[in-house]
Amino acid sequence: MYIKQLFKEKEVVFSFEIFPPKPTSPIEVIYDTLEGLEDLNPDYISVTYGAGGSVNDNRTCQLSSLVKNKYGIEALAHLTCIGSTKKETTRILENLKANGIKNVLALRGDIPEENSSVGEFSNSQELIKHIKQTKDFGIAVACYPEGHIESRNIDKDIEILKLKEDAGADYLISQLFFDNNYFYNFLNKVEQKSINLPIQAGIMPITNRKQIERIVSLCGVTLPSKFIKIIDKYEHDKDALRDAGIAYALEQIVDLVSTGVKGIHLYTMNSPYIAKSITNCIGSILNSINKKQIV
Ligand code: FAD
Repeated sequence: MYIKQLFKEKEVVFSFEIFPPKPTSPIEVIYDTLEGLEDLNPDYISVTYGAGGSVNDNRTCQLSSLVKNKYGIEALAHLTCIGSTKKETTRILENLKANGIKNVLALRGDIPEENSSVGEFSNSQELIKHIKQTKDFGIAVACYPEGHIESRNIDKDIEILKLKEDAGADYLISQLFFDNNYFYNFLNKVEQKSINLPIQAGIMPITNRKQIERIVSLCGVTLPSKFIKIIDKYEHDKDALRDAGIAYALEQIVDLVSTGVKGIHLYTMNSPYIAKSITNCIGSILNSINKKQIV
C-alpha cells in the first residue's frame, strides 16, 4: 500500500526506522532485529540508505524487501541522490519496484567529500521530480524542526518544504529533536505557509554519550538541560542510561500524541528492546486514539 493512505485511516501513524547491516556482515544478522520488531505491529518500517558513510549498496532494497515480503510489514526505502546519476537512480527504483516496494523516502543526502562526483541531482526536489517521472511510488521527504544544519534558517527551510510538496511529496518525517517546543513552533510555521502534508515526529531514544555527540555534530539539534542532566548522571551505567533515554523519549511521545501529532517515527537503532519498551508503554494510547477515529 501507499503509506499516505495510512494517514487517512489512522489518527496517529507509528513507524520504526532501521539500518542495514554493514556490507561485510551477512544480511541475516538483521533477522533478530526484525523478529523482535515484527510482533510490535508498526504501521511500517523504514530502511536507511548509505547513512553514516557506509557504501551505497543493494542492502536497502534487500532489507526493505525482507520487511515487506518475509515479515509482511509495509516498507519505506530511503534513497539519497547526491553524487548519483539519473540512470543509477532509475536502476535502484526499478529494483525496488521489482521487489514490491511502493514507498520511498526521497533525500538529497549529505554533501560528499571534496573531489567526489556531485552527480546529476542538487536537492531532494529534483529527486522527487525524477521519481514522479520514472515510476509510481509513494514519496516521503525529510523536514527539520530546528532547521537544516546547512541553513539554520527555519523560514527558508519551510519555503523549501513547500517546494517539496509542490514537487509531489506525500508526507514528511522530521529530524530527531529532544525539545518538543521546537516541533510545535515548526508545525505553526508550516501551517502558516499552507503546507498541508501530514508530518511524523522523529524520536530517538538516546543510549550513550558518544551517540549523542555524533548526532549533535551531524545535525546540530538542541540538547535541553534536563536531557544533559540524564547523560551526566548515568553515562557510566549502560542500562540505566538506556532506560532513562527510553523514559525521556516516552515523555516526549505521550506529549506529542496528546497534542495531536499525525505520526511518530521511532529511530530504533536496530534495538528490539528499545522499540518494545516504547511500544508496550504507548500501545494502549495509540489504540485508544486510533479506535476513536474509527468510531
Ligand atoms: P534537501 O531537501 O535537498 O535540502 C538540503 C539543504 O538544501 C537544506 O538546507 C535546504 O534548505 C537546501 N535546499 C534544498 N532545496 C533548495 C533549493 N531549491 N534552493 C535553495 N536551497 C535548497 N541521509 C542518508 O544518507 N541516508 C538516510 O537514510 C537518511 N535518512 C534520513 C531520514 C530522515 C527522517 C532525515 C530527517 C534525514 C535523513 N538523512 C539520511 C539525512 C539527510 O540526507 C541530510 O539531512 C541531508 O543533508 C539533506 O537531505 P534533504 O533530503 O533534507 O535535502
